[in-house]
Amino acid sequence: MGHRKSFVAANWKLHGSRSQLERFTSQCTERIDEDVDVVLCTSHVHLGFTAELLGEQGRVKLGAQNVSQHRHGAYTGEISCEMLVEAGCRYVLVGHSERRRLFGETSFIVAEKFAAVRAAGLIPILCLGESGAARQARRTFEVIAEELDIVIEKNGAMAFDNAIIAYEPIWAVGTGKCATPEQAQEVHSFIRSRLAEDTPVIGEKVRIIYGGSVTPANAQDLFAQPDIDGGLIGRASLDGEAFLGIVEAAKGAS
Ligand code: PEP
Repeated sequence: MGHRKSFVAANWKLHGSRSQLERFTSQCTERIDEDVDVVLCTSHVHLGFTAELLGEQGRVKLGAQNVSQHRHGAYTGEISCEMLVEAGCRYVLVGHSERRRLFGETSFIVAEKFAAVRAAGLIPILCLGESGAARQARRTFEVIAEELDIVIEKNGAMAFDNAIIAYEPIWAVGTGKCATPEQAQEVHSFIRSRLAEDTPVIGEKVRIIYGGSVTPANAQDLFAQPDIDGGLIGRASLDGEAFLGIVEAAKGAS
């Protein structure tokens, strides 16, 4: 890590109840300080409740896991950026691999969502990652470049000012098989250079976090890499102690 402030986000996916949220938020708000930016991404239904639990404490920020690219209209079941703002959200995951893979989100739609999120004053956490097959075929950089470039083309590199990028190899998400620190560092460095080619200051500033089977046991070595600025945590974030262990590792690395 280095001069960029560490960033750790919890992605609760299709998990969690009010009582779990009560436990988690009281555990975290007591023990997290301002050395690390921490975000909790709950289900849409739980956002308002979580915002109330987090209150004014400011240590853990609220995030959503998905959003519509549309502002309003006949899009049954969708949630707009303005609705997320009203619910108290600051961050939104954009282009998580589960959204791309299971719900048909193309890179074009992801770029549109990124634009909508920026326009509403929210902070996107843009997820990028290659499949196991693409890695085996040595196409990792090609896939990452395709997913990133379309967002830069539509929004400009300056739109990454203050945004977060999450490198999440699909083969590592939810599989228990974490990338090695070297594998992750190589891709993080590639992403940073690609943004820097366009706008050097953004390449230097943007925080790039790693996601994919991060645990308290492997977090420290990952976060020690120069271009890894924290983590996006799925399964381990459902356990308050495990999540706090990962936050500690990020703090130690900043
Ligand atoms: C994720 O959901 O973004 C994720 C990285 O999940 P896990 O930590 O379970 O691999």
